[in-house]
Amino acid sequence: MALLDILKAGNPVLKNKSVPVERVDKSLKKLLDDMAETMYANDGVGLAAPQIGKNICVVVIDCQDDHGLLEMINPVITFKEGEVVDTEGCLSVPDIYGEVSRAAKVKVKYTNRRGKIQNLTATGLLARCIQHELDHLEGQLFIDIAQSVHRGNQG
Ligand SMILES: [Zn+2]
Repeated sequence: MALLDILKAGNPVLKNKSVPVERVDKSLKKLLDDMAETMYANDGVGLAAPQIGKNICVVVIDCQDDHGLLEMINPVITFKEGEVVDTEGCLSVPDIYGEVSRAAKVKVKYTNRRGKIQNLTATGLLARCIQHELDHLEGQLFIDIAQSVHRGNQG
């Protein structure tokens, strides 16, 4: 496995819309491994492929809950409910935090590394993280939609 460089806000790759993955092959599985390693090494709870310079629809998430590591290929939110405002940060926007409104509950459909379609219902931090990472695939950063931003430690 290998640590990948994380692009920072201002890099145009972060603003591009990502394209769906056509085939789950060996190189994609290696990318998933490297993305997870990079996320853990940076104490992140999620990482999207554009953040490591690839405009493809792939995200990894680990909110340290019962779901463990989630590897989502071509994820699509199929249902949203409720609204909750909470603080977010992003590995591509170091030392900046913001208050962001998100759906309280989402359902997401994605392909896993075995090529199987999965459906997941999420609430709480995981729901927020899924919406944040999927925004990356649309070229959107949380600072683009935050109600307010501030510098310094979260909370
Ligand atoms: Zn982010």
